[in-house]
Amino acid sequence: MDHQNAIPRKWDIEADVVVVGFGAAGMAAAVTAHELGAKVVILEKAPEGQEGGNTRVAGQGYLNTSSAESAAAYLTALCGPYTVPETMVKVWAEEMGRNNDWLRSLGGDPQEHQHPPVGIEFPDLPGSDCVHKFHDGPTYGYSYTWKLFERLVKERPIQILYETPGQALIQHDTTKEILGVRAQRDGKPITVKARKGVVLTCGGFENNQQMIRDYLPGVPYCYTSGSPYNEGDGITMAMSVGADLWHMNNYAGPSMALKVPEVRTTFSMQALHYSKEIPGGMIVVGPDGKRFADEKYRTRHGKVPINGVWLPLATPCPMYLIFDHTMFSSGPLYDGHPSHGWTQIIEQYDWSKDNSKELAKGWVKSAASLADLAGVIGVNATTLINTVSRWNDHVAAKRDAEFGRTLMMQPIGDGPYYAVELSPSMLNTQGGPRRNERAQIVRPDGSPIPRLYSAGELGSIYSYLYQGTGNIGECLTFGRIAARNAVAEPAWRADNA
Ligand SMILES: Cc1cc2nc3c(=O)[nH]c(=O)nc-3n(C[C@H](O)[C@H](O)[C@H](O)COP(=O)(O)OP(=O)(O)OC[C@H]3O[C@@H](n4cnc5c(N)ncnc54)[C@H](O)[C@@H]3O)c2cc1C
Repeated sequence: MDHQNAIPRKWDIEADVVVVGFGAAGMAAAVTAHELGAKVVILEKAPEGQEGGNTRVAGQGYLNTSSAESAAAYLTALCGPYTVPETMVKVWAEEMGRNNDWLRSLGGDPQEHQHPPVGIEFPDLPGSDCVHKFHDGPTYGYSYTWKLFERLVKERPIQILYETPGQALIQHDTTKEILGVRAQRDGKPITVKARKGVVLTCGGFENNQQMIRDYLPGVPYCYTSGSPYNEGDGITMAMSVGADLWHMNNYAGPSMALKVPEVRTTFSMQALHYSKEIPGGMIVVGPDGKRFADEKYRTRHGKVPINGVWLPLATPCPMYLIFDHTMFSSGPLYDGHPSHGWTQIIEQYDWSKDNSKELAKGWVKSAASLADLAGVIGVNATTLINTVSRWNDHVAAKRDAEFGRTLMMQPIGDGPYYAVELSPSMLNTQGGPRRNERAQIVRPDGSPIPRLYSAGELGSIYSYLYQGTGNIGECLTFGRIAARNAVAEPAWRADNA
């Protein structure tokens, strides 16, 4: 990417604050900056209708903690040995309790999640009683909280440039200040001047396989159930002007899902949902034809307990969901309920009720016998037959002696038999440029890069364990902080404009 050095003679677009990425963090930064009197421009990579990032397709919950003291204790415990500076914990804990007041002041309607479980992810950790999860309006899911966020931006004179990915930051040669952004629009490069500051809110690297290989532990590839537009651009842009990175190895995953080349995001399987019991027998095996986990375990955003600590679920690739004809004929294998997920909400793929279309496409494979199925998927036939027979013994004994599974304890019955290749899937990454308590992006020595801010999952505070709704909660929190500090900057001298 072309970046920093050349300062444009002429700017195509000018604003006080330039926000890169229109999700929850971009909304919070843009609205706050606007309310403080700044002229704001949002650059958004996706075409109109596909903006909103992960926020748009999320479960729609956001955190509003009840006590700053408990919140600080809980976040500290969540970080465990992967500590984050106390100043960051403090500012997170103080600001996180203000999300509802802020949204209410703008006309939002915060409603606390009522349906059980209320969702304290680690109830045994100190301070966990601070967790209160909210959404906007009476209905939970279906982009409803996002619709509020979208309205808050659109009812203000904030310019949104769709299909305009930010590509590089423009940095002053000597002062190292960030003066603006180079972006792409209608196939042409444009320059966007930021008189006060740039806020990067362009999400994580969920859809960048090179970064996934380089940074995420234990996965040779991993696919997103969120926005395919989050390709780690903010990481590249920030690194190119000297940013440090943090939390790159932490992510909300993995789970196991189907990914096919024709669709950008993953298909979640009904049978693997922890709360769904469907007729028929199923297991998941690795490339060695053996089971490796309790297939129905409710992970904590991808983490499972091992020897007293939480580690990412092992995902030996390629993995296969193996199941019998009863399960195949009991309804769609895909969990297409549209309350959340990019595939469900945006792609809206029409999965056939009897799975016949997906069988014909080869997404589902079948064979008359287990030995033949093993041949089709390339695993050892004897091992697969033994694995299935061991599973059926566990079911008969009503005890999974290997992995302790207790749900969908049904034998793999009559054929034909079926397999679906599963890939590691995730909601979102947590890593990105390191930020400080003023939401400034900092260099490896801790000094801020002047006029450069960030918010949201691009360099989130979460270093290890994650409390559900903490991401959108943090978007609101650091979006406000970033905007307040950016707007407080004096405009840079116009000697290069
Ligand atoms: C299925 C699912 C369910 C989830 N449920 C919850 C939940 O209930 N609660 C919770 O707190 N978290 C949840 N999460 C996580 C949460 O949605 C995200 O972490 C959070 O929404 C991230 O917000 P953001 O503003 O940082 O990024 P995003 O909302 O992802 O927005 C980033 C935006 O930047 C744009 N962009 C990318 N690159 C560029 C570029 N170069 N230039 C300009 N724009 C760019 C993208 O198109 C996108 O619009 C869920 C995630 C998923 C996928």
